[in-house]
Amino acid sequence: MSVAHVQSAVASVNDPEYPDVSIVDLGLVESVTVSDAGDAATVGLIPTFSGCPALDMIAADVERAVLALTDVTTCTVEWLPGPVWTNERLTDRARTTLADEFTVVLRRKDGGLRCPICGSDAVADQSLAGPTRCRSVAWCDSCRNPVEVMR
Ligand SMILES: [Zn+2]
Repeated sequence: MSVAHVQSAVASVNDPEYPDVSIVDLGLVESVTVSDAGDAATVGLIPTFSGCPALDMIAADVERAVLALTDVTTCTVEWLPGPVWTNERLTDRARTTLADEFTVVLRRKDGGLRCPICGSDAVADQSLAGPTRCRSVAWCDSCRNPVEVMR
């Protein structure tokens, strides 16, 4: 089994909270290695936010996808302590899908927010409490829609 096979299996795993976005596009996959004999795969992932309840599901999904490959008998999924995930790891495809389908906005480096619906900068943080600990809710003053902020 080659690394490329394992990588494509990993790329078939989508985030449980954003079903159309692959964990590869989310920038969660840091390393993929295969043993010399080709029967053992190790996948190193970095969490978007530690303590996210989806992490266990993601690890189980990765394991299942890799073990479905012929010749792979063991798959180890590791949550790596670093590098730290930032939203710069998202691919353009992930950004587009998150904005269009899930109205998720990404915080810019300067801390600003841009509405994924109307493109306005008039987005105000509403509260720290969000649907999950990974996200918070903000409010767009321009189109008057709630948007989710990915931390
Ligand atoms: Zn808006």
